Amino acid sequence: MRDFVFCPFCGTRLEKKKGKKGLRNRCPSCGFTQYKNPLPSVGAIPVRDGEILLIKRGVEPAKGAWVFPTGFVDEGESPREACLRELKEETGLEGRIIRIIEAYSEQADIYGHILVIMYLVEVTGGELRPGDDAADAKFFKPSDLPDLLFTCFKDSVAHISKLNGLLKVGERGL
Ligand SMILES: [Zn+2]
Repeated sequence: MRDFVFCPFCGTRLEKKKGKKGLRNRCPSCGFTQYKNPLPSVGAIPVRDGEILLIKRGVEPAKGAWVFPTGFVDEGESPREACLRELKEETGLEGRIIRIIEAYSEQADIYGHILVIMYLVEVTGGELRPGDDAADAKFFKPSDLPDLLFTCFKDSVAHISKLNGLLKVGERGL
């Protein structure tokens, strides 16, 4: 997250104040303090019949890379809701969350530090229709997955691969 120069509420030039965790931007007029926190986001690993869905990015950044549906949590939305909304928006598919896999820290070019909560999702319906930013979307067998871009994606796949049977969601009532 970048530093504000002026107070976003009253427009006064911010000052650096020393706090417990180092220097923070503070407004001498209204008392606003700029805290720098990671942005909460979610990712879905959509699974159907033992295969994993990936999207090929059609626009920069990372054009041509295979990724999972991800996005920021909107105000008033739970992480689970955000996960299923992003899945629907980016693939046209509906799903059911099976479990949380892990929460990760990533550095994104534009946004800086983001917190990514990854979920394993069973695809339950809808029609595969990639969103505008996607060049392609398809299901892969776990053994045929292409190279993945982010640590959170690679690590999540390694994580679920270790959990015997989780890729057969639906068949075992998981
Ligand atoms: Zn202010």
